[in-house]
Amino acid sequence: ADAAIFQAKSRGYGQTVTAPRGSTVHNGADIRRALEDQEFVLHYQPVVDLATGTVDKAEALVRWVRPDGQIVPPDQFIRLAEQTGTMLELGDWILSTAVHSATTWHHDGRPVAVSVNASGAELQDPTYARRVLRHVADAALAPERLIIELVESDFSLASRAVRANLVTLADAGVRLAIDDFGTGHSSLHRLDQLRVDILKIDRSFISPLTDPDQPMPVVTAILAMADALGLDVVAEGIETPEQADWLRRRGCSHGQGYLYGKPAPHPPATAVLHRSA
Ligand code: C2E
Ligand code: MG
Ligand code: MG
Ligand code: MG
Repeated sequence: ADAAIFQAKSRGYGQTVTAPRGSTVHNGADIRRALEDQEFVLHYQPVVDLATGTVDKAEALVRWVRPDGQIVPPDQFIRLAEQTGTMLELGDWILSTAVHSATTWHHDGRPVAVSVNASGAELQDPTYARRVLRHVADAALAPERLIIELVESDFSLASRAVRANLVTLADAGVRLAIDDFGTGHSSLHRLDQLRVDILKIDRSFISPLTDPDQPMPVVTAILAMADALGLDVVAEGIETPEQADWLRRRGCSHGQGYLYGKPAPHPPATAVLHRSA
């Protein structure tokens, strides 16, 4: 069962992912050393406007490239970083790298935003929003060109620090997205309380889509709700033109997935972005 789970997760990489060797036990000191030795890299995956095909934003996805070339997926070290108190340092590096790289991105004459995933530990940290805004200012990036992705099960709005961070970010113009929407603790009450701009429909809702006339009541309901709330929607994990057509015909504004590009250090989309800049 474990092997099956690992396979399922590693399919998300678009490259060979090797499980850490049996003897490899990562700890907080490993992560700190890896940061010093610059073993972390960001890959970027394009998010396209489904109506026009224009790249609208790109999501930053972190990977750990070990000295032997082995690539460790984020699912295997983000939680470890949180547990060992190194997530804030790692998160600072991720934010700084992502916002600096986004400053040069354009497509069809329009600036392209960067989407960065926030971990629960970062959202809980009282200095998080301030640090995000400092990175944005250092890079001279328009705040609207940064999107922070939140996974609902990773944070609680009962926490004063979390609420303060989200208000500070929204006040500054940084956009907020709910990631993996429809899984975990999706709460409509929370959606009402948060100043969210974007809903990302989890890949698990998109994968079963094969037929152009397939009734997909939950996806249809999410699209209607997002429309009523005035939110943009990104469908995650689009792998086939049929899935893209289904979503476009039903008013889904944006899509992300292998159909448009796998996460890569210099995704094909980035080459296009740079050319038209
Ligand atoms: P996520 O934010 O929901 O990211 C989307 C995941 O789906 C990525 O996996 C991406 O490679 C994969 N994916 C995209 N399109 C497709 C597709 O068409 N088919 C399939 N099968 N998979 C697709 P990845 O990069 O392994 O990241 C996994 C999770 O790790 C992310 O889920 C996110 O929750 C977390 N993560 C990644 N980078 C960061 C980071 O910088 N900071 C934090 N805190 N978490 C991160
Ligand atoms: Mg995400
Ligand atoms: Mg997601
Ligand atoms: Mg996820």
